[in-house]
Amino acid sequence: MRTIPRALVIGDPIAHSLSPLLHQTWLKQTKINGRYEKKNIAYKDLSKKLKALFQDDGFVGANITLPHKRAALQIADEVTTRAEKTGSANLLYKKNNKIIADNTDIAGFITPLLKRRSGQQLKQASVLVFGAGGVARAVLIALQNADVQQITLCNRSNERAEKLVESLDQKTGITNLQTLDWKNRNKPKGTVDLVVNASSAGMTGVESLDVNLDFCQKEALVYDLVYKPLLTPFILQASSKNLKVIDGLEMLISQARPCFKVFFGIEPPKDTFVRNKLESYLIKENDGSE
Ligand code: NDP
Repeated sequence: MRTIPRALVIGDPIAHSLSPLLHQTWLKQTKINGRYEKKNIAYKDLSKKLKALFQDDGFVGANITLPHKRAALQIADEVTTRAEKTGSANLLYKKNNKIIADNTDIAGFITPLLKRRSGQQLKQASVLVFGAGGVARAVLIALQNADVQQITLCNRSNERAEKLVESLDQKTGITNLQTLDWKNRNKPKGTVDLVVNASSAGMTGVESLDVNLDFCQKEALVYDLVYKPLLTPFILQASSKNLKVIDGLEMLISQARPCFKVFFGIEPPKDTFVRNKLESYLIKENDGSE
C-alpha cells in the first residue's frame, strides 16, 4: 500500500494559519491523495519534534512560521543559499534522506511585482520599504537580487533598520541600501515608484501604518504584505489616492507554490480558484462569521 504524503505548517501560535486552506484547496483541485495540516510546536520542543516527524515515511516536509523560521536552519542537514542569506527558512523538506532548509519568501515577494513591472523597470525604480523584521530582510534581498538601484528602508525603531542594512551590506557586499529616519517617513527624498509595507502595522490587532502616501508619484505601486485583513488601512489609503496596489495574499500564494511542488510533486494550478477561496474566507473572518 502506498503511503499518503503528508505535510504540515508549524508555528506557535498556528490556529489562524491560512496555509492548510491554501494547500488543501490545491490538493482537491489536483486530486492528489495527500494531507496538509497545522501543528502547534513550542520553541523548546521544535528540534526533537521535527526530527521525529521526519522519521515518518509519509512525512514530506513542513512550512515553518513564527517564531521558528530562524531555528529551522539548525535542524536541517543542508541549507540553501537563499535560506542562508535570509537567516531563516519557511520550508523544510526531505531529499535523499536529508532535511533541506529553504526560503521561498524572496521569490514569493518578487513574483507579483514582476507581473506589473518588467525587470528593467524594477532595476530603475526607487523603492521605499517599511519594517525591519524577518520578512523585510527577505524583501530587501529580493530587491537586491532584482538589481534595484535605489532601496530605502524605514522602520519605527531606526536602530533596527540601521542594523538590518549593516548586516545585509556585510553579507551581500552590495551597498545600495539606505535608511530613512522614522520622523521623515512622510518626506522621502526624490520620487518613489514602489512603497512596500513589510511591517506588521495594519494587521488585525496592530495599529495601522502611520504613513501619508501624498509623496507618491501618480504611477507608484503600493504593496502591503499584510493579508489579515485583506483590505488594510494602507491599501485603502493607496486606493483612495488612485494608486495601484498589491495585497499580501499575492505573496502568500506565490511563496506557497514551490512548497506544494516540493511536497506533492506537481505544480499547483495557476487559476484564481485558490485566491477566491482565501479571499472569501478572509472576508467572512473579518465579518466575524468565520
Ligand atoms: P516581525 O515581528 O519580525 O517584524 C515586525 C515589524 O513591524 C518591525 O519592523 C516592527 O517595528 C514593525 N511594526 C510593528 N508594529 C508597527 C507599527 N504599529 N507601526 C510601524 N511599524 C510597526 O514580523 P515579520 O517581519 O515576520 O512580518 C511582518 C508582517 O508581514 C506580518 O504582518 C506578517 O503577517 C506579514 N508577512 C506576510 C507574508 C506574506 O506572504 N504576505 C509573509 C511573511 C510575513 P519595530 O522594529 O519598531 O518594532
